[in-house]
Amino acid sequence: MSPSAEQWAAAVAAVRSAGPGDEILLICHVNPDGDALGSMLGFGLGLRRLGFTNIRATFPGDFTVPGPYQDLPGRDLLVPEEDAWSDPRLVLIFDVAGESRLGALVDRLGAPRSVVLDHHASNTGFGEVRLVDPRAAATSVVAEQLLERLGVPLDAEIAECLYVALATDTGSFKFDMTTVAVHELAARLIATGIQPGEISRRIFDSKPFGAMKLTGEVLGRAVLDPAAAGGRGMVWTYATLGDLERHAQPAYVLDTLIDPVRSVAEADVSVVVKQTGEKEWSVSLRSKGAVDVSGVAVAQGGGGHRLAAGFTGHGEAADVVDTVRRLLDDYLN
Ligand code: 5GP
Ligand code: MN
Repeated sequence: MSPSAEQWAAAVAAVRSAGPGDEILLICHVNPDGDALGSMLGFGLGLRRLGFTNIRATFPGDFTVPGPYQDLPGRDLLVPEEDAWSDPRLVLIFDVAGESRLGALVDRLGAPRSVVLDHHASNTGFGEVRLVDPRAAATSVVAEQLLERLGVPLDAEIAECLYVALATDTGSFKFDMTTVAVHELAARLIATGIQPGEISRRIFDSKPFGAMKLTGEVLGRAVLDPAAAGGRGMVWTYATLGDLERHAQPAYVLDTLIDPVRSVAEADVSVVVKQTGEKEWSVSLRSKGAVDVSGVAVAQGGGGHRLAAGFTGHGEAADVVDTVRRLLDDYLN
C-alpha cells in the first residue's frame, strides 16, 4: 500500500513543526548504498532550501562512504554517528527496512517527531509517520514526493542526489520497477541540468584496478548448483576479509559483485556471501522471478524486496549457503 493522503499530510506537518534553528537529524541504513545516501542528502539539501540551519545526516557503524558517492552534493551534511544530534527535534529516516539497520542510532526514534521514508515491502513498521511505498522504485521517489509537498523546487544539486539514488536502485533503469513514472521523474531530474552520462560513469563504470582483480578472483570461485531452488538453479560465491586485504580494497567494492553473478543464465537465484567479521557474513540474494528471496532473508532476520534481499549470516561461508539452499527448498515446497 502506498502512503495515504493523511500520512503525507502528517509528514508535511512533522517537518513544518520544526523551527528554523531546531536540530534535525537524517539517518540512512548501515553500509549505505546509492539510494540510502542519495535520498537522504537530496532531502537534506531540500530542508536547507526551506531555511533549516541545523541539519545533520548520518548512518550507523563504520563511517565509510563508498567511493562512487563521496562527491554527492550535500556531503557536508554528513557526520559520523558519534557527531549525530543526540536529542534532535525531528528525525527523518531513509531506506531503512527494519530497526536493526539503524544500529545504535535506533534510540533517536524517541525524538519528539519522526518520519520514515522507505520502499521495502518488508518494512517492519517503526517511527511516528511512515511513508513506506513498496511500489516506489527507490526511496528517492518517496523523498521527491515529500519535497514537492513541502514546496521545494528541484535544483541541480538535489536532482543529482535523487538521480543517483534512482539509477542505483533500478540498476540503471533496467529492473522491473522501471515504470513510466520512474522515467518521468528521471526526466524532471535531468531537466535541472545534471549530466547523466558523467554521473553513470562515476557510480557504475569506475573502479580501482585492485577492485577489478579482486572481482576476477571471487567470480573465478563461483559455484553453479543446478539442482538448488527446486531445479531452478542457484549460483553462489564468497569473499573473505583476507581477499579484501590481499587486494587492499574496502568492503564496499563487493557491493556490486552480485551483478555479474546474477547474470548467470542457468540459475534463477544468485548469492554472494561477504565476510564482515569472525564467522559473520553479509549475504546478498537475488532472484530472476521464481523465488521471493525476501522470504529467505526475513527468515534469517534480514529483509529486502521480492527479487533482491539480504541478511547477516553466521558460521562458515558454506554453512550460510547451505542455510539458503534449505530455506529455498522450504519456500518452494
Ligand atoms: P544488497 O544485497 O544490495 O546489500 O541488498 C539487497 C536488498 O536487501 C536491499 O533492499 C537491502 O535493503 C536489503 N538488505 C540487505 N541486507 C539486509 C539486512 O541485513 N537486513 C535487512 N532488513 N535488509 C537487508
Ligand atoms: Mn532503496
